[in-house]
Amino acid sequence: MVVSQASFNGTIVVFAPHMDDESLGCGLLLASRQDKERLHVVFVTDGARSPALATQSPDQARQLVSLRMQEALAAAVALGVPAANVQFLGFEDGTLGRSGERLRTALIEQVRHLAPQFVFVPFRYDRHPDHLAIHRAICNARREGAIQADVVEYFVYSQWRLLPSGDVRDYLAPELLRRLEPAPATAIKRRAIECHRSQTTCFYDWQTRPILTRELVDRVCAEPETFLLHDPALQGNRVFARARAWIPIAHRVEPALKRWKDRLTGWTGG
Ligand SMILES: [Zn+2]
Repeated sequence: MVVSQASFNGTIVVFAPHMDDESLGCGLLLASRQDKERLHVVFVTDGARSPALATQSPDQARQLVSLRMQEALAAAVALGVPAANVQFLGFEDGTLGRSGERLRTALIEQVRHLAPQFVFVPFRYDRHPDHLAIHRAICNARREGAIQADVVEYFVYSQWRLLPSGDVRDYLAPELLRRLEPAPATAIKRRAIECHRSQTTCFYDWQTRPILTRELVDRVCAEPETFLLHDPALQGNRVFARARAWIPIAHRVEPALKRWKDRLTGWTGG
């Protein structure tokens, strides 16, 4: 079955856990829209922990936050999102999983205020706890009727070592997916990603590689953007057409596998 072309007409809000998630996961979508005033990006955390060392001083963290906000604004503008439509909620990076009610209240407030047709959140089996916390907060609010907008899931981390194809998107039911081909907005997406220079270059002397490696940026820019239409009736692994039993297990094991590989390659960064 062929996956349908993405078209999400009306006002959209992209919830980006960190500065760069919006460009990586929704760059083509934002770049290809003509009615730019209907696009909103909400950055939820302050981005202070990417890259971060245990020894990062408060001063270094503050500098990084300020730089990342400037980069995020530049990236949004590169994608055509009006600067006035960019919000920073300033939650502490890495803490969303523990932010419970405070996070939920802040996200619901944004949705009610902006009244979008579509709200974009990271994929339900994303790898990062901050990404998963935003997914949960919005999807629970939608299920309980606290917000009315349709929810769409986007992909930041889709490469899985424990799946034969290596990409979790290949296992989803095609009728639930929408896709956007890289052309003609690829160059704009790349420009937006590269606005996040603290992520695409080595920010600290101790870094042996940037957070977003050249290979990763090339791959993300070369591939289509995929979106999963969120249906509250299809919870958890019910959105998969195959490997349904294996995916939740693989999802639990992947982070440990990554930590083990990173230790082997001497990588200690965010
Ligand atoms: Zn992120």
